[in-house]
Amino acid sequence: GVLHRVEKKWYWMSEIYPTEEISLRSASVDNFVIIDTANQQEQVIGEMDKASVPTLIYEGAIYLHEGEQYAIHRLDYQNQKAYAERVKVNYYTDAQDETNIKVLEVFEKGEELNMEHAYGEVAITTVSTCYKKIKFYTHENIGFGEISLPPEEMHTTAYWLALADDSGELWKRLETEDTSFNLSSGLLALSNVLINIVPLYVMCDPQDIRAVSEVRSPFTSKPTIYIYDNYPGGVGFSEKMFELRRPLLQAAQELILGCGCEKGCPSCVGPIDEVGIKGKESALLILREALS
Ligand SMILES: [Zn+2]
Repeated sequence: GVLHRVEKKWYWMSEIYPTEEISLRSASVDNFVIIDTANQQEQVIGEMDKASVPTLIYEGAIYLHEGEQYAIHRLDYQNQKAYAERVKVNYYTDAQDETNIKVLEVFEKGEELNMEHAYGEVAITTVSTCYKKIKFYTHENIGFGEISLPPEEMHTTAYWLALADDSGELWKRLETEDTSFNLSSGLLALSNVLINIVPLYVMCDPQDIRAVSEVRSPFTSKPTIYIYDNYPGGVGFSEKMFELRRPLLQAAQELILGCGCEKGCPSCVGPIDEVGIKGKESALLILREALS
């Protein structure tokens, strides 16, 4: 086991995670510890699963613990330790990551007009490249930093919806005919809305699920939105999303239509600088076809 020294006490990390309970595919056994280095003492203030390290405790990250801000000033990747220091700053950090998704197995599939739905096992690869410092309240971008960490791979389950074949033409036509339609913006906007809605239906926290959208998925060969369980091995949210797909899409449509903003906002499809000026309208067009 890995021995961690915590304020002159010794803990065997392997005893916290009995071997027989560990899924072989799971990466979460390699938890990182977050250590407060104040007063020449090393006090463990938190633990983090390995998969979240590149997005939450890279060097330069502001980590929140019991309402206090801690700056991660050193990450010892080899020994799975992040060294932190209490700070008071007027910004939070936001890692910019790239996520790749690969379908390993389809558990169930359902075809509907203009739409294919499925859920199954996937491999997620996430690599963080840099982070932004974002000022509280104004959300102003006040700086950047680099993140140099290896990619993290996680096997989990995902639900996905693909805009079906016949409509391949439809989306292209819409893009040329309708100046308010952009496929990529629409997929991103719709995935943001789903991330807001899904927790109410499957009883999870927003950070328990994540979305990836692809204009042409290598697996489905179609425009596709994946929403995956953000836990190694998956915890059952994807299956529920698959079962509740119709009410979920209807709720997404209601949420967008019910929002008073003109072109999109954080309460519906996400901020315009993220999803683009056509995001809201495009998400509605996709939903109109999907629910017709
Ligand atoms: Zn809005």
